[in-house]
Amino acid sequence: MSLLQDGHLMPLDEISSHRQDAWEKQSDYVARNSEFYQRLWNGRRPPRRLEDLAELPFSDKADLRLSQPASPPFGDYLAAPADRVSRLHRTSGTTGQAMNLAMSARDCEITEIVGGRAQSLAGLKPGITVVHCLNYQMWMGGLTDHLTLERTGATVVPFGVGSTELLIDTILETKITAISCTPSYPAVLERVIAEKYPSMKPRDLGLKLGLFGGEPGIDDPAFRRRLGDIWGMQPRNANYGVSDVFCNFASECRHDTALHFVAHDVLHAELIDPDSGDGKGLDPGNEGELVLTHLSRECQPLVRFRTGDIIRVENTDKCACGCTGFRFRVIGRSDDMVVVRGLNMFPTMVAAVVTGFDELSGDYRIMLDTPPPYDVLPVHVELAVEGRDDGTLARRIEETCKKKLGATIRATVLPHGTFPRTEGKTKRVIRSYE
Ligand SMILES: [Zn+2]
Repeated sequence: MSLLQDGHLMPLDEISSHRQDAWEKQSDYVARNSEFYQRLWNGRRPPRRLEDLAELPFSDKADLRLSQPASPPFGDYLAAPADRVSRLHRTSGTTGQAMNLAMSARDCEITEIVGGRAQSLAGLKPGITVVHCLNYQMWMGGLTDHLTLERTGATVVPFGVGSTELLIDTILETKITAISCTPSYPAVLERVIAEKYPSMKPRDLGLKLGLFGGEPGIDDPAFRRRLGDIWGMQPRNANYGVSDVFCNFASECRHDTALHFVAHDVLHAELIDPDSGDGKGLDPGNEGELVLTHLSRECQPLVRFRTGDIIRVENTDKCACGCTGFRFRVIGRSDDMVVVRGLNMFPTMVAAVVTGFDELSGDYRIMLDTPPPYDVLPVHVELAVEGRDDGTLARRIEETCKKKLGATIRATVLPHGTFPRTEGKTKRVIRSYE
């Protein structure tokens, strides 16, 4: 196994020779066994030194989407014999085309340990009982995330989604104190508590630790304050991943809300300018698209894979929690970026404004009904359960956006419950003209 014991806590200079060795083995393996990369590299040998990786072309999700129907079910980036595949996950994605993810027993083991590091940094440990409320149906967030939770030594209750009343009873009866779910799920629980348990308040459930993943909303300070005030819960972004690479390789800790990269020993990260593709250093303050390369993967190894996630590096020093990986925030998706009068806007920026209004539920959609360019960003928001619009709400939201973001938006306030509550990723930018 090419994973180091507690590799995320080791000084980077101690890991660098391990990383170089891992790349030599992995690049040989990929060049020999992945038809996908043989084609992409035109039969050229990959560079020996990891630091020369930029000689290779990028690969991206669109390439993988073409590869799977052409070489079903796993695509010709499957580099291991089919009988090595021990787990198959299937994702629906946002484009409608299901993708098949293959993992060998070793891929599973490494995935679970890396995810366990992230959940541990987020505060999960032996003695805590956590209920896992993500969809178990084929999706990685179900079974595989469950197994990452177990790696922390915590007691894990496999709940899945739906049956919210059963969940509430289970939490109360088994003294569960931590929940693993999407950031939009507490709102679902709040609604059921208000309807079915009128004498109870959310904080009466006794949940102290919220381990969130799947959506970027958790970065917002107002959203976090809400969880503290209403639930008495410490919210943690415990689960950042890219399903084609690792389901979870970064989380925040109790000292710092930035995501900590916990996979240096098995994953190589690069930062690039999303337009030019030029490399940028992983240095504090730098923003760009995250590009990832597996250093140890059997089934579907990826090299210089463009994640589409735009991140900002916050810190490269060792954190007080002991983690030595760089710390970062996800600003948005390169395909979610909307340019408004030359200003790069991401949904998370709108979220920061919307969640500052107590009258609103915090949910929103950016509704684009014409192709670019845009002078104004049309944003739909909805009222909170007890939110009231005094007639000035839309104007106040627009003014706050102008002041905080420098952007002109047009706000439409909708009744509470207009947006569907989702258990997976929520699409915030709706391009109805496509
Ligand atoms: Zn930390």
